[in-house]
Formats: sequence, structure tokens, C-alpha cells
Amino acid sequence: MFLYSTLINNSYSIEMKKTYLSMSLLTVLILSSAIVIIYDVKSKFTVNQTDFPDLSPKVQIREDYTFLWEEFEHAPGDQQGDDSVVFGSSFGPYHNYSELVNKLKSLNTTFPEIIEVFTIGKTYFGREIYCVLITNESIRLPKTEVLIVGQHHAQEQINVENALYFIDKVVSEFFSSSTTIQHLLNTKAIYMIPSLNIDGAELMSQNPWQRKIARPIDEDGDGIEDEFELQDVNKDGYIDRISDGSHIFVGHEGIDLDGDGRIGNDKPGGVDPNRNYAYQFGKQPGASDNLSAWNYHGPYAFSENCTARFRDFVLQRNFITAVSLHSGMDYTMILGPSTLEGGLLRGEDKDLYINTGTKLQELTGFSLEIEEGVYPLSGVWDDWMYSNGTLLAFTFETYGNPSMYNAIFNATTGNYHHRGVWDYCNPPGDKVIENCVQTFPGLLFMVEEAPYLSIQTNAIREGEKLLIHIDISNPSSYIRTNCSLVLNWTASQSVGITPLDSIRTLSLNELNAKSNQEIVIGFTIDQPNYNLGLKLCVSGSKVGTILSEYTFNPSQVTTKSTVSIPYFALLGFLVFVLIKKYD
Ligand SMILES: [Zn+2]
Repeated sequence: MFLYSTLINNSYSIEMKKTYLSMSLLTVLILSSAIVIIYDVKSKFTVNQTDFPDLSPKVQIREDYTFLWEEFEHAPGDQQGDDSVVFGSSFGPYHNYSELVNKLKSLNTTFPEIIEVFTIGKTYFGREIYCVLITNESIRLPKTEVLIVGQHHAQEQINVENALYFIDKVVSEFFSSSTTIQHLLNTKAIYMIPSLNIDGAELMSQNPWQRKIARPIDEDGDGIEDEFELQDVNKDGYIDRISDGSHIFVGHEGIDLDGDGRIGNDKPGGVDPNRNYAYQFGKQPGASDNLSAWNYHGPYAFSENCTARFRDFVLQRNFITAVSLHSGMDYTMILGPSTLEGGLLRGEDKDLYINTGTKLQELTGFSLEIEEGVYPLSGVWDDWMYSNGTLLAFTFETYGNPSMYNAIFNATTGNYHHRGVWDYCNPPGDKVIENCVQTFPGLLFMVEEAPYLSIQTNAIREGEKLLIHIDISNPSSYIRTNCSLVLNWTASQSVGITPLDSIRTLSLNELNAKSNQEIVIGFTIDQPNYNLGLKLCVSGSKVGTILSEYTFNPSQVTTKSTVSIPYFALLGFLVFVLIKKYD
């Protein structure tokens, strides 16, 4: 209004009029340029279909949820005796099964955006085996799948806490807007089974030595299963494991139910789940045929409920990296698939294991033990996972304290009394979080390392041509992949768009770790107002298949060069003519 009134007011001099006219035209020029630029930028972004939705969290950390580090804030230190026996079925600050289930259900209802809890089946005694899926559920793009499983061995209870800490930490970081964690949950699906051998774990308040599965087995062959009542007879907090002078197992401290003069010699269950997998099942060395042995492999592969349900679950999925959590070795370590005769690790994968393992060692301080033959085993988890297509399967031994384990000679009986197995496998309550903090970066790295082929597209119009840039990247550090790209396009009508090139399958060069490759495909447009549908399918060795679909409308794809230059030229010319006219 001000500009208009100044222009028509004749009381101003001709010089003033010229100045006002120039200023007003300049303003129009600036405003319209801004509109052109905004439109350009907007149109560029609207065609990039792979941009993720707004990542900002929908909710803040919920006040009513107690994170693991809060639960352990006032946890007691070491108890005299085996803590699981001292604390009884509550396991003290540790999570027994019902506490674990409550926590998982609470996670599920408190953080539904990224947590989904489900069961993979039941144990022998009918307990549900829970699995937690951690991923950004609002993003439905194909994701790389990662697996973490805890507590194959019952007495290694710290691994349940390692698993719960991982979940809580990831949840907390996601809702604290950590871009690293948000990106991970946008591109990866993390499946976490905190406890696999639940029946065994539930027995630990009676038997801190419980390692194997609890399905009853007649270990001593007298026709009666599980003649068992382990008891802390002398009330010192320990249930001793008794061996004779030659370290032959005699029994456990407890009651001689079968009256054979030996106590606790037919304990519950008898199958070691981590010798019960199908790869090299039952081979020697590495597993025992003896029903009483700590590493008895079971009657046949997947003979136990929990291993069979685990197998069924894994075969339905496509896990690229995986970790199994253990404890109770003399020191903390990282183990890869064991290499029995012939060497299981395939040529190029050996370097991959060494490189990734070395990084894991740096991150956790655990020692790397993946040289061939260091720890030959048969029927174990790692080998089965690897032989079924999981690229990286590591076992983490997250804790071990041999100084807490003693063998005391009893001169009267001539036997050795071993004690302190709980403390050997598990830290005291006030050290649990410390152990979880140490383990966490290793687990996180296994999620980060799972390769993810992302497809980014950007369309640019050059005159009659629509050029679509496809950018494929591999963000992992060590994993290389050979990919092929399959293109499929359709137009919304049968005329209007013609591909410049009829190639529909492209073999890409080896996509190196942390590298990307750009491919440009072009179409000619004779009638631009059609939709172009583009289906892209990238398959890479070791990463599976990524499929994405895009829609482009050529009329919405503009570039500055085709629109802006003539527009600016025309405006400039008008300003020039008007100024000249007033001269
Ligand atoms: Zn173990």
C-alpha cells in the first residue's frame, strides 16, 4: 500500500519516482527469487522418497519405568556363600524368571514405539521363552536383523543382566535423542532373548552348579530320574561339589535320596544346551557322551525344548550378526565359531572375524580367542549359526572370577569340596552394572557392524530427460559385499516415459566397507505429468536383499538451471526497460 501510494503521488520529483520504482522492482525480484529457490529446494526433497520420517521422539523417558542401573543402585555387595543360595528364589538383586517377565512386559507397555515382546515357544516345564524386538516400529523399510541370546547355561546369571542393561540403555538413548541409536533402530532390527535355559536357571537357589537343562534324566541308570535334593547341610551358604582325590565327580552336598551312599549324584536334567546344536553334533573332542558330564550333548541334536524352539525361530529369520552371552571362564573373552577338522571359518571370513574381534577386544577389554583349535567344541551355537548363514557369530564370556572358587580337602572323607561357583560366574550385586557397562559397547558394535545396504535416490530433470541418481552404500567397517541391483519401472500410463537404457540388472563392483556407489538411470519424457514407479532391489552377498519402491512425477522435478535463469533474465530486462523509460 505504501509503495503504491508513493508511486501515484505526483508531488514527488522524477528522481524520487525513479528511486522508488527501482526499489520496488528490486523487492519484487528478491521476493520472487526466494519463492523460486524455496520451490526448487522443496521439489528436490519431495522426490527423495528414502528420507526417514521425523526422528524426534514422540515421548520422553517415562517416569514410571525403572532402568536397570536404578534397580541396582543400592544392590548389596558380595555375600558369604553362593549368592543365589543365600538370597533364595528371589536371586537378590538379580532377576529371577518372574522378575524378568515383569520387566519385559513393562518395557513392552512403556516403550511400544521401539519394543515388542513375544515368545518363541515353551521350555520343558512350560515356561515361555521371551524374545524382545528392539527397532523403530514406525519405519517399515527392510532392516538388517541382529540376534543376542543369553543364558544357555543356567548358572551364568549375569548374562540376563547384560541383556537387560543393553535393552534399557538402547531405550534410554533412543528417547534421549541419540542420533547414533536412532539411526541404528531405523535400519536394524535387534532380537534379544535374555534367557534361553529358563528351567535350569530357576533351580539355582537350590543348586548354584546348575548349568544344563532341567529336563529329568536318569543319570545313574537306576531307573529313577532326578533323585535330587541338594542342600546346604552345614549352613555355610555353599552347596559343595564333591570329588575324590582324582577329581572324579562324587556328588553334591545334600541328601542321599536313593540310599546308595552318594549324595546329589542324580541331579535335575543333564543336557548341555550349548552342545545340543546340529553342527558336528556329538563329535569328539568338545562334548561328552556321559550323562553326568557337565558337557553332555543330549540324545540327538535339538533334543531339548529350548534349543529346538530357538532353532525354529532362527530359521524363520535372517540374522546377519549374532552374539551368545556366557560367563564363568577364568577370564573374559570373545570366541568365534570353533574350528574343528577342516576349519570351519571360510577363507575371507577369517580376516573379517579377526578384524571385528580385534575391535571388540578394544571396546570391551575382553581377550580375543579365535585362533583355530584354541577351544575345539562340537554341537555348539556359534558353529551352527555360522553354518546357517549368520556372517558373524561371536560368544562373549563377559565375566569370570577364579579367585572366588576354592577346592578344600576333607581329610576325613578323602574328598575335595569345591565351592564358590556362583561367585566364579557372577559378580556381586554392587558390581553388576560395572560389568554391563563393560559389555555394552561390544554388543552395540555387533549391531552397528551388521551391514546395511541403503538405497538413496534423487531425481533431476535435464530438459527432456529425467535422471535418477541411485546411491547404494555399505556403512559397516569391515564387511565387503558383492551386490547386484535389479531395476523395475512402470509408468502410470503406457506412453510418456521411455527408459534411455534397457538394462534392468546391474552387477556392481565389490561394495567395500564404508563405501558407496552411484548409478544414474535416465528416462525421456514426452508428456511430463505422469508418475514413474521405480522398484529397486539390491541383493548383496552376506546382507540379503533390500527392496525399495519409489514414485517420481517428472513435472514436479525441477532444476534451477531450467527454470531460474530465464526467469531472472526476464525480470532483469523489465527493470532495465522501466528505469530507461524514466530517464
Ligand atoms: Zn556358558
